Amino acid sequence: MEKETTMNSPDTYWIGIDVGGTTIKSGVVNREGKILEQVVVDARSKDGPQAAIDQLVFTVNKLLNDRDRSRCAGIGIGCPGVVGLDSDTVSYPPNFTDWHDVKLATEVKNKISLDVVVENDANVAALAEAMHGAGKDCKDFLFVIWGTGVGGGIINDHKIYRGPYGGAGEFGHMSINYDGPPCNCGNIGCIESYIGQRYLSQRTRELLQQFPDSTIKTMVDGNLEKIEPVIIAKAAEQGDKIAIQILEEAGTLLGYALASAMNILDLNVAVIGGGISAAPEFVYDAMKRALQSRILKPHRPYIRVLRATLGNSAGIIGAASLLM
Ligand SMILES: [Zn+2]
Repeated sequence: MEKETTMNSPDTYWIGIDVGGTTIKSGVVNREGKILEQVVVDARSKDGPQAAIDQLVFTVNKLLNDRDRSRCAGIGIGCPGVVGLDSDTVSYPPNFTDWHDVKLATEVKNKISLDVVVENDANVAALAEAMHGAGKDCKDFLFVIWGTGVGGGIINDHKIYRGPYGGAGEFGHMSINYDGPPCNCGNIGCIESYIGQRYLSQRTRELLQQFPDSTIKTMVDGNLEKIEPVIIAKAAEQGDKIAIQILEEAGTLLGYALASAMNILDLNVAVIGGGISAAPEFVYDAMKRALQSRILKPHRPYIRVLRATLGNSAGIIGAASLLM
């Protein structure tokens, strides 16, 4: 009963935690999905689970110290890696040393005495867009994170679809070419190995050898190691042919991959987030053309591709939304 009273009060808040390989970001979030205050600390990801958990607990206490604790309706954590269906156990988050079956929610709950749940970080970002962002008006959609890697989440009836083992939505590791480049996951030809940041930068470097006059070269002062998608996008906006070619190709490939996934899931809407999702409009045009051409006919009149609206805040907002 007391829980219900807390949940219904207008000044109820939730704490959302975005655990990343370099930083842990925690925020106080209200019912409307607005971040009221946040604390950011180093993740200490190389020092084993206890160090990161201590960091995380520190941020939560810092946020709770100045507030009425009884108004906090719970703590949600978005974490990379495999998160068990128990919303507690985290295994093998990439970039974290020695994390095997860490009961993260239980560990935090033991120290803070509030409800705590954990969810995979891509799913958390999808939920943020579903509840407070671009997907607010869509019951069902595919969410794609297009950045350093390529991730995904499936929103089914406004909720995260986890699948029977908790691993649903791994959009980035759909193979689009059995003979393609190797992917970080060990497979071959995954969509991530075509359009993830590393590949886009690498492909640009290769093309620059044939077209040395590209403005990209000037933009990085000749240091090709500095090439990253935001620079490619800027060059494209200035009319650079190489940049346009690379991004158009990436948009097209993403469109084909979206069509395959959306055909299987019976979906009409895709929401694109992550660092590269800020790409110029022509990239989205290429993506939509490819999607339209490959998605099954009954879907074609209803297809929508939306840009995510919450940016870097999606991690905190989505984590907090887990308990809303
Ligand atoms: Zn892969």
